[in-house]
Amino acid sequence: MTFVYGVCGACGRSVRRNSPVPITIVCDCYRLCPLCGGQMKPYTPTLPPRAYGNEDSFEWDPLGLAEKCGATSETLYVCRNHQPPYYSTRRPVEVELR
Ligand SMILES: [Zn+2]
Ligand SMILES: [Zn+2]
Repeated sequence: MTFVYGVCGACGRSVRRNSPVPITIVCDCYRLCPLCGGQMKPYTPTLPPRAYGNEDSFEWDPLGLAEKCGATSETLYVCRNHQPPYYSTRRPVEVELR
């Protein structure tokens, strides 16, 4: 058996796979909640993207805070173990193993 190794640049975890040639894998850390370590769920907006961050609407968001404290159109994963839920915009990280 031949193993290849690599370290994820995002979470610092070392990854080992059984492969005779260098490969690239996707580290699953982008799906883990940084607060509780649980698996986050893919986030599907329930509103069209325009409904998020419509900061032009003064009545809806007079202080311009909405973008910072909730889901945005950038949100990819959500952990609902928290109140409010944790919204993640992390993207998959490719790790080179050799
Ligand atoms: Zn990682
Ligand atoms: Zn969590």
